[in-house]
Amino acid sequence: MYYIGIDLGGTNISAGIVDENGNILVKKETPTMNGRTAEDILDDMAELAKALIKELQIEVSDIESIGIGMPGTMDKQKGISIYANNLNFRNVNVIDEMRKRIDLPCYIENDANCAAIGENVCGIAYGSKNLIYITIGTGVGAGIIINGKVFDGSFGGGGEAGHMVIVAEGEECTCGRKGCWEAYASASALRREGRIAAAKYPNSKIYDLVDGNIKLIDAKTVFDAYDLGDEIALKIIDKYIKYLAIGLVNLVNIFQPEAIIIGGGVCAQGDKVIEPLIKILNERVYGGELKTKICVATLGNDAGVVGAAMLGRINREEI
Ligand SMILES: [Zn+2]
Repeated sequence: MYYIGIDLGGTNISAGIVDENGNILVKKETPTMNGRTAEDILDDMAELAKALIKELQIEVSDIESIGIGMPGTMDKQKGISIYANNLNFRNVNVIDEMRKRIDLPCYIENDANCAAIGENVCGIAYGSKNLIYITIGTGVGAGIIINGKVFDGSFGGGGEAGHMVIVAEGEECTCGRKGCWEAYASASALRREGRIAAAKYPNSKIYDLVDGNIKLIDAKTVFDAYDLGDEIALKIIDKYIKYLAIGLVNLVNIFQPEAIIIGGGVCAQGDKVIEPLIKILNERVYGGELKTKICVATLGNDAGVVGAAMLGRINREEI
């Protein structure tokens, strides 16, 4: 049996047909093109699914189900996307709408949870009972799996690790509060610090790398300056990793998972981030011994597609 997984992101819609073991057999992608209606995006997702079926030369009846990973708040049981910030989705019944376009069982799940499922089914955290996937991008998302099941609390909105406060009255967060982990550990936070520093220190490499056009600075610019040995970038990254570690220490202390997997753009930096993180965690974790494996995601962007596809398999196993 085959499964279709769709990773609906703010930038791209990625879709793939996946086998029972989570291997992607075919994959396609199309730009989300922000600002379009939910109807248009649903059309695209259905078209991608049909194109994949055609490419693999199978029939719709060979597909067990479609799973969709997407951002925002949702009622998974009813299949409703209540609110997705980067997409024009407001109270859209994604499952009903997809079934109108392609008649297959459909499931929706938070995108970070899908990535966690993907890494759990066939990635770095294969077979782990308890794991946490942290995606670091514009925000900080978390997918928490406890005893082999996605944990999202009693009302479907739990697991928002990015919005635990790590600094009282700290930096403003996109959620409207202050001091959230996301406001310190996201790529946006690193970008913010890079821009502030470049404006203050025009002698820094961060400033040089963008020829003084501060608006062009992003998280990667700061890492690039760090690679060039820039003192200012060194300090920013050092502080960034400390804040990243505070949140991870909290998660380890609460959950003691087998693994914490770091995904998103920042994970491309690999050991540069992971090694100092592990060092800090070893010093600060409760009990003084870090047993949790801290690693970068191995499936990259595919984790979301695989995890979404596996929603159907997980659901079947539960029944
Ligand atoms: Zn927040």
